[in-house]
Amino acid sequence: MNSDPKLIKDSQELSHLICKTEDSGSIPCTCSLLRCEGWDTMSDSMWPQDQLIQLGTLRDSCVDEPTFEEFQPTSLRADDPKALISIEHFPYNRCDVFACTKCNQAVMRYTEYGGYYIDHRARRVRAEQIIKGE
Ligand SMILES: [Zn+2]
Repeated sequence: MNSDPKLIKDSQELSHLICKTEDSGSIPCTCSLLRCEGWDTMSDSMWPQDQLIQLGTLRDSCVDEPTFEEFQPTSLRADDPKALISIEHFPYNRCDVFACTKCNQAVMRYTEYGGYYIDHRARRVRAEQIIKGE
């Protein structure tokens, strides 16, 4: 367990990472990330693991149980592709952040644990959607 992903501490750091990824351009790519708009289910078989790099994680291992509170300043549903991203709130506070090495699409993923199932959910991220800290 000594290769823990880097903890992204605040929204500035996150948007910086995403901006850098977006700025590095893209080459045509058909990865499944292009389909996950707003917290779509992404099973391991759909997840393009081989061409992703992990940028970091928003899941602070010092926090036992991150809040389930959601934050949406607008009337959009949390799973709307245009929903804003507040990293202190659910589900962003338990996400890992990845980027495709081809199209440079950034994506967040977390795992929902039900009684009898686990469900990987992913959504694409753009820097402009991230709510900057107060
Ligand atoms: Zn891609």
